[in-house]
Amino acid sequence: MPTVVALHAHPDDESSKGAGTVARYVDRGVRAVLVCATGGEAGDILNPAMDQPEIAARLSELRAEELREAAAIIGYDEVIPLGYRDSGMPDTEHNVHPDAFVNASFDEVLERTVAIVRRERPEVLLGYDDHERYPHPDHLRIHDLSLAVFEAAADPDRFPDAGPPWAVSRVYAPVFMVGRIRSLHQAMLDRGDESPFERWIERLEDAEDDPDVVRAHIDVTGYVERARDALRAHRTQIDPDGFWFQVPLDVVESVYPYEDFELLASRDDETSPEATSDLFAPVRFAG
Ligand SMILES: [Zn+2]
Repeated sequence: MPTVVALHAHPDDESSKGAGTVARYVDRGVRAVLVCATGGEAGDILNPAMDQPEIAARLSELRAEELREAAAIIGYDEVIPLGYRDSGMPDTEHNVHPDAFVNASFDEVLERTVAIVRRERPEVLLGYDDHERYPHPDHLRIHDLSLAVFEAAADPDRFPDAGPPWAVSRVYAPVFMVGRIRSLHQAMLDRGDESPFERWIERLEDAEDDPDVVRAHIDVTGYVERARDALRAHRTQIDPDGFWFQVPLDVVESVYPYEDFELLASRDDETSPEATSDLFAPVRFAG
């Protein structure tokens, strides 16, 4: 069975990054396994309706429940929590907690992830890009882990107790392309609506997508709502009237019905410098 293993930092990342694509592949018979490094203990309660002391006291338990619910909506076959503590944003007290993900030995994290990959034998691994614009320490660690697992899982000399070697074909990272943000922003302005991307556009200034990066653009027509439902399951983190839901579904599906993935590593020579349309096959993107 074709398999994808997705590495994520916190509960809700699996729903905000590439969820429509995973749902689409699951519906086409792909097995999907979610590895979530932390429990999201350092997250702020971002839904005003949930901002109560009794919710805050049970936050890690609630976030684990939310994760299970969201993963079921997307269609993941299995969720594997690694059990580390959320390391928090840079320069917060969470960074120095002994259980924080960033304070765990990298080799220990790598060996555990290699063991999962060797057991699941995925063709495709989803990880993170270098997170230039969102330098959360846990996300940066997932980026380093994504590349290290690709090499180590295939190397018989690394972690011989973690199962027989397995060579993942490709590692992709879900990315928010500048072109996507600009297209959706413009579409909202053209309708005379307020755009949720106003601040993003300011911060981007004259940034452009690097044309030399290989990317896959996955058509998620029919899956955008399912990804939003998964996000809504993260009740403590996601405001149901907030940012993620402000562009109407029909606008997304008519203007930019794609999720974009940067190719971080690949073992096949066929991947063209052009973007591909399928994480599992080297087919050129025609759209
Ligand atoms: Zn995160």
